[in-house]
Amino acid sequence: RLWHQPLKHREWNGTGSTAHFQDIFLGRCYIYTQLVQPEFRDRDCKKIEEAFRNAFISKDPCEVTEEDYHPLMELASQTVPCDKTVFWSRTKELAHQYTWVRQEMFTLENTLLGYVADGLTWCGDSGSSEMNYQSCPDWRKDCKNNSVTVFWKVLSKMFAENACGMVQVVLNGSLSNAFSKDSTFGGVEVHNLHPEKVHTLQAWVMHDIGKSPSDSCSGSSIMDLKSIMSKRNIKFTCQDNYRPVKFLQCVRNPEDSSCSLRT
Ligand code: NAD
Repeated sequence: RLWHQPLKHREWNGTGSTAHFQDIFLGRCYIYTQLVQPEFRDRDCKKIEEAFRNAFISKDPCEVTEEDYHPLMELASQTVPCDKTVFWSRTKELAHQYTWVRQEMFTLENTLLGYVADGLTWCGDSGSSEMNYQSCPDWRKDCKNNSVTVFWKVLSKMFAENACGMVQVVLNGSLSNAFSKDSTFGGVEVHNLHPEKVHTLQAWVMHDIGKSPSDSCSGSSIMDLKSIMSKRNIKFTCQDNYRPVKFLQCVRNPEDSSCSLRT
């Protein structure tokens, strides 16, 4: 037996865990708790990192459950002030530019757990206590529910449950369906808003500058969203090319005719 051979992880179709995952996770946690939101300076990043690892390490990444992440969610819980929650769907960059300029507003990635995990990949292996840096399950080819997707589902659900007052969503009007029931926003967040706490959802449908608009507030996908909200007893408003977000697009495209006062 080749006892000296390194333990071979199971092979998946997706990219493996992000290199230096632990260091990045801990580093981001310290940046967030010490510098970004110093009111969290007493949170224990090592404990948070440990709870995070415990959720998926030594497990088949396709068998990770929502419950596995519950201890982490309790340890790193966070409430966003009323009227300051911003959801997004297919508009990540723009939504983040918006909350960067409006520092008091929060997307999920402006909360501690969203901040530390954004853009990273992680998975374990049932036969090992190490992370698998070679490959992780692909959402389509291997399994829909895996260590990464289950995490975002649980976190998105909590983020929506905790929202209150007026909430906003930035949607992409350069797609044929600005609203999709299959997205995390449409499938998870919308259904976990509490009507006793959230009185209004404001949607901003943004058109990419230089692309032809494909959907708008009067399109059928937004009508679907409107009817879901009316059934859920939450007031719904929609605006195409909301000015505060449009200005951010115009910073990058100052010469576009739609960015000129004279049009
Ligand atoms: P989106 O379609 O732009 O997806 C955002 C990311 O999640 C993409 O990387 C996408 O590949 C992945 N994703 C979406 N649905 C998935 C699913 N069912 N299974 C596996 N991966 C999936 O927009 P969305 O789906 O509406 O998600 C954005 C909303 O949900 C935001 O409001 C945010 O709060 C939350 N969210 C954030 C992230 C993130 O990576 N930061 C991921 C998922 C969800």
